[in-house]
Amino acid sequence: MYDAIVIGGGPAGLQAALTLGRMHRSVLLLDSGRYRNGTVEHAHNYATHDGISPAEFRRLARADLAAYDTVEVRDVPADGVEQDGDGFVVHLADGVERATQLVLATGVRDALPDVPGLADAWGKEIAHCPFCHGHEFAGGTVALDVEGPHLERLTAMLGPIVEGVVPVTGRVQRVERRDGGLDLTLDDGTIHVDGMFVAPAFSQSAPFAEQLGLALNDSGCVRVDAFQGTSMPGVLAAGDAAHHPDLPMPMSSILTSQAAGLVAGAACVQALLARDALEAA
Ligand SMILES: Cc1cc2nc3c(=O)[nH]c(=O)nc-3n(C[C@H](O)[C@H](O)[C@H](O)COP(=O)(O)OP(=O)(O)OC[C@H]3O[C@@H](n4cnc5c(N)ncnc54)[C@H](O)[C@@H]3O)c2cc1C
Repeated sequence: MYDAIVIGGGPAGLQAALTLGRMHRSVLLLDSGRYRNGTVEHAHNYATHDGISPAEFRRLARADLAAYDTVEVRDVPADGVEQDGDGFVVHLADGVERATQLVLATGVRDALPDVPGLADAWGKEIAHCPFCHGHEFAGGTVALDVEGPHLERLTAMLGPIVEGVVPVTGRVQRVERRDGGLDLTLDDGTIHVDGMFVAPAFSQSAPFAEQLGLALNDSGCVRVDAFQGTSMPGVLAAGDAAHHPDLPMPMSSILTSQAAGLVAGAACVQALLARDALEAA
């Protein structure tokens, strides 16, 4: 029986495990190895490590965890979760593990537009967030394959950064990476741009919120309170998978995910203290 099982080895889960480890609580972190920014070569907007590769970020975070004896990391997927008495059971391919607290840090999955070549450029010349990938196109030209208010917002945000924005009116037929930019085959010909922004729909990476019957927001993300608590006591959610209803959308970034992971880890510690006090009484 662990004090906590953290499902997810991205920024949110790694930080939650670190916080629990520093408080000498036993924690098992499970990681299926599918990260939202898995295709990204350089992550930005992260003070002290601006431009770090996400793979290096994870390597460093795991090295930090190795210093704490109560933290165990396993590169295996969780297959299912269920409530069991005062705790939770997590099903793995080779058995089950149990914990008092459960942290869901499983992230979301982007549904990329089905355009040949687009997935190859995702996280490189094609992005969705100008805070993460915007400055990289400074002085260049970017295509915007987004609609409505999102198009206006992106155009305004990118205005001070890029030389030109090209709203895509028809359908992008094909994307080819060339000379550090993109050849976009459109309905009426081919254009070359330095980058492109798209707005993929996203959904929960894992079925655990559904399995536990957790309340979700309209975004499809797990509804959390200020301490990352979900609608089920003992279950915390952090990172892209979680969404505080006061915010218009999940605040997706490495730093906000880490911050949420820290709060989730601290909330687990508080819940464990309350349990210990009850048991001692
Ligand atoms: C193209 C792109 C570029 C981005 N660039 C930036 C950037 O420059 N700067 C920035 O701050 N942010 C950037 N982001 C956002 C950032 O990547 C996310 O906000 C962040 O990774 C979310 O962290 P997370 O821990 O919630 O989820 P993730 O990093 O997606 O991690 C989810 C974890 O859950 C695990 N998991 C899922 N299901 C299971 C299961 N069943 N069992 C076990 N483990 C499971 C996965 O294997 C993974 O370890 C970018 C995102 C995208 C898509």
